[in-house]
Amino acid sequence: MIGPSEGVSAMNIREITIKNALARTGIEGYDYCLNPYVGCSHGCRYCYAAFMKRFSGHSEAWGDFVDVKTNAAEVLRRQLRRIRGGTLLIGTVTDPYQPLEKRYCMTRECLSALVPSSLEVHILTRSPLIVRDTDILRELSHVEVGLSITTNREDMKEVFEPRAPSIASRVDALKTLHDAGLRTYAFVGPLLPMDPRTLASMIEGAADEVLIDRLNYAGRVAGLLRSSGLAPLMTMHRVRTAARELHDILTEKGIPVSILFS
Ligand code: SF4
Repeated sequence: MIGPSEGVSAMNIREITIKNALARTGIEGYDYCLNPYVGCSHGCRYCYAAFMKRFSGHSEAWGDFVDVKTNAAEVLRRQLRRIRGGTLLIGTVTDPYQPLEKRYCMTRECLSALVPSSLEVHILTRSPLIVRDTDILRELSHVEVGLSITTNREDMKEVFEPRAPSIASRVDALKTLHDAGLRTYAFVGPLLPMDPRTLASMIEGAADEVLIDRLNYAGRVAGLLRSSGLAPLMTMHRVRTAARELHDILTEKGIPVSILFS
């Protein structure tokens, strides 16, 4: 167990070893994925990755356990000897910069292992902790760093992502990475209730590109939407309208933007 000062109180933490760090992925545009942890203490209410619990042997709720893959970097180095190139996404079913990363540095070690490789590295997080690794990120030959910025509204963040860092801190982190010369993107996914014009102003100057996606597993939060009274703000019509508005404002500002749903 770990103390509240590290932001992951009442958390079951296990150290595990693995045989493979890199895995093939079916995610469009990527050849490989890498997840230095199993589970995610951010515990977002809508998390699509909660299915991982079935494969982890944990009985705790999603968000209340994390397995730390302590040999991930060592295994990754071995696998990289056999890999010529391709695209890699770090953080497909966990947040690589969740609070435990401060203590374990698994993601940082994996990034170090990737420095000599020719893999094109993409990394996605909801945490400003990624700024700590700016030095290593800048050593990678091809890298793109993304911050999930799902709304401009901290009150919505509190409802859907109560344990994740503030929206303001994510925007600041994205700007810092951008100013450090890294290619950055904002992932507005899942799009939460927002003011598109305010969000566009926040992102401007911090992201080279913006991707917008919808809530893909609405069933997970159906009860929350009903009890919080937010269901009318999350209808497909409202989400499509907000996505289109955000798209058009960003386009006017000259920021490349894609909507990932129809
Ligand atoms: S940060 Fe990502 S992986 Fe972690 S709980 Fe939230 S959506 Fe899931």
